[in-house]
Amino acid sequence: MRQPGQHFLQIPGPSAVPDRILKAIGQQTIDHRGPDFAAVGKTALDGMKSIFKTEQHVFIFPSSGTGAWEAALVNALSPGDKVLMYETGHFAAMWQSMAKKIGLSPEVITSDWRGGADPDQIEARLRQDTNHAIKAVCVVHNETSTGSVSPIHEVRKAIDAAGHPALLMVDSISGLASLDFQFDAWGVDVCISGSQKGLMLPPGLSFNAVSDKAMENAKSVTMPRSYWDWHDMVGPNATGYFPYTPCTNLLYGLNEAIAMLHEEGLDQVFARHARHGAATRAAVRAWGLDVLCAKQGDESGVLTAVLLPEGQSADQFRATTLAHYNISLGNGLSKVSDKVFRIGHLGDFNDLMLMATLSGVEMGLAKAGVPHQSGGAQAAMEHLKQTAA
Ligand code: PLP
Repeated sequence: MRQPGQHFLQIPGPSAVPDRILKAIGQQTIDHRGPDFAAVGKTALDGMKSIFKTEQHVFIFPSSGTGAWEAALVNALSPGDKVLMYETGHFAAMWQSMAKKIGLSPEVITSDWRGGADPDQIEARLRQDTNHAIKAVCVVHNETSTGSVSPIHEVRKAIDAAGHPALLMVDSISGLASLDFQFDAWGVDVCISGSQKGLMLPPGLSFNAVSDKAMENAKSVTMPRSYWDWHDMVGPNATGYFPYTPCTNLLYGLNEAIAMLHEEGLDQVFARHARHGAATRAAVRAWGLDVLCAKQGDESGVLTAVLLPEGQSADQFRATTLAHYNISLGNGLSKVSDKVFRIGHLGDFNDLMLMATLSGVEMGLAKAGVPHQSGGAQAAMEHLKQTAA
């Protein structure tokens, strides 16, 4: 049956693509080895440095974020290397599973999936590793399955306090361009990101930001690699080209996205996400439900994962809400499957879009018969009114 009006894509990525970006992507594809392409590639590569806040290296791959996870691991490590991976949620667990599959030896710090990584635990483990067997520390910046943020700068300080040479590798697939991220200032060695979240693009582009230290290290590590090899990118990238066919049209879109982010101002983008996160949590509290992230200060401005009362199916609630209000909400993944739903409030998003989203959730809770108190949307509106610029 036709659903009139706009569909609300409120999953925590892909986020809705703004018209300006869709128009940019819709331009004619050009010769990626011809003279006009150089400016497209150069603008994208330099522009992404300004988003990562780095003067070091950025690589762009035609893949989803998972590809860039693999690129990071195969360029930074050798077969059998021990990596310390902090399990903040489903995506951290998936990265571990990839590390194992490609022949690394992940050592996992487990958690209850209700907060970000704890730098003290990382420091304590690194202090024990006196022969420096651990080659990298891997942390997810914004854990998209739980809505928890890890304190990346504090993790770097923990590694330094332990006097440990391990590389700091960070998945900011859903954090970049929504939450503050400072590759150089925070001393990150490799950061992985993707196009379909804060960058407001469709899926299909992924990124590695790489420190000089990791770049140098990549010359001697021995993990087999070809498609993902950073060093094959360096030569062509210097003039704006790629060693193989890039996603030309997504690069047009990326350049538009970078321009839009700078027009708004990155600090304003981060403040907007934080404010929408706080308003959403006000709504959840008023409904009498729990936010999955239980660690104060780690709550995400990108998404909010909401726990349903025992015995309630989050998937049935989402299906009811989609059918009646034409809104897609994120599902619970693996350990929290059917127990939580996720509200995405990222990307090209404003106060009225958030109000429509939370009204849809509140009407959906009623329609699906989930026990709750009404007034959540109202509580969010009060927060938005009080914090309006
Ligand atoms: N890491 C995080 C934090 C993610 O949110 C995602 C996807 O949502 C991934 C990794 C995997 O990325 P992709 O699905 O683009 O391959």
